[in-house]
Amino acid sequence: MRVLVIEDEQKTADYLRKGLTEHGYVVDVARDGIDGKHLATEGEYDLIVLDLMLPGIDGYEVLTALRQTRETPVLMLTARDKVEDRVRGLQSGADDYLVKPFAFSELLARVQALLRRGRAQEPTVYRLADLEVDLVKRKAFRAGQRLDLTAKEFMLLTLLLRRQGQILSRTTIAEQVWDMNFDSDTNVVDVAIRRLRAKLDDPFAAKLLHTVRGMGYVLEVRADGK
Ligand code: CA
Repeated sequence: MRVLVIEDEQKTADYLRKGLTEHGYVVDVARDGIDGKHLATEGEYDLIVLDLMLPGIDGYEVLTALRQTRETPVLMLTARDKVEDRVRGLQSGADDYLVKPFAFSELLARVQALLRRGRAQEPTVYRLADLEVDLVKRKAFRAGQRLDLTAKEFMLLTLLLRRQGQILSRTTIAEQVWDMNFDSDTNVVDVAIRRLRAKLDDPFAAKLLHTVRGMGYVLEVRADGK
């Protein structure tokens, strides 16, 4: 089981790494929100322990970015025992929380409970017409045919599918899939869209991925099938 700890306080980070490692988890630590967001959205983790107050970008922003594409369970840590912080965290997609200071035994119990819950869940499958994307198996199908996607293409498709019917700008796509700001050069997005479209739509009569001129891209079923 791989756990990502996003925590800027050295002492707490060390304590969590040591404790979780002793209990058989493989632990990565990110020391700020930017690294944390990158690892959380690009890496493969079974669970994320996320401090809310972080330098760079805060825990809420990390959570929001993560939830665009991933269902990884998140246990948030908050130093402030304020109801509104916890509510905001849970609304942003956290699965559970702990208020600092906490006992390691309690953290471990919550980590174990979240991992059990995650395993008990049905696979997360998204569908649109004959398109099916299984987030757990990380496989995509159209009309039962497996689509041979790269990791980035899979992320791109998942993002579009989770927000089906919404036009996503190139900037949004660049931020979510590449974790970068392409202020002027969003060509990378167009290239990736073209490659995805070749696999997703070209072999099939009904097109799902549409270009909205001057605005971006949208994944949806259109009546005319084009
Ligand atoms: Ca902190």
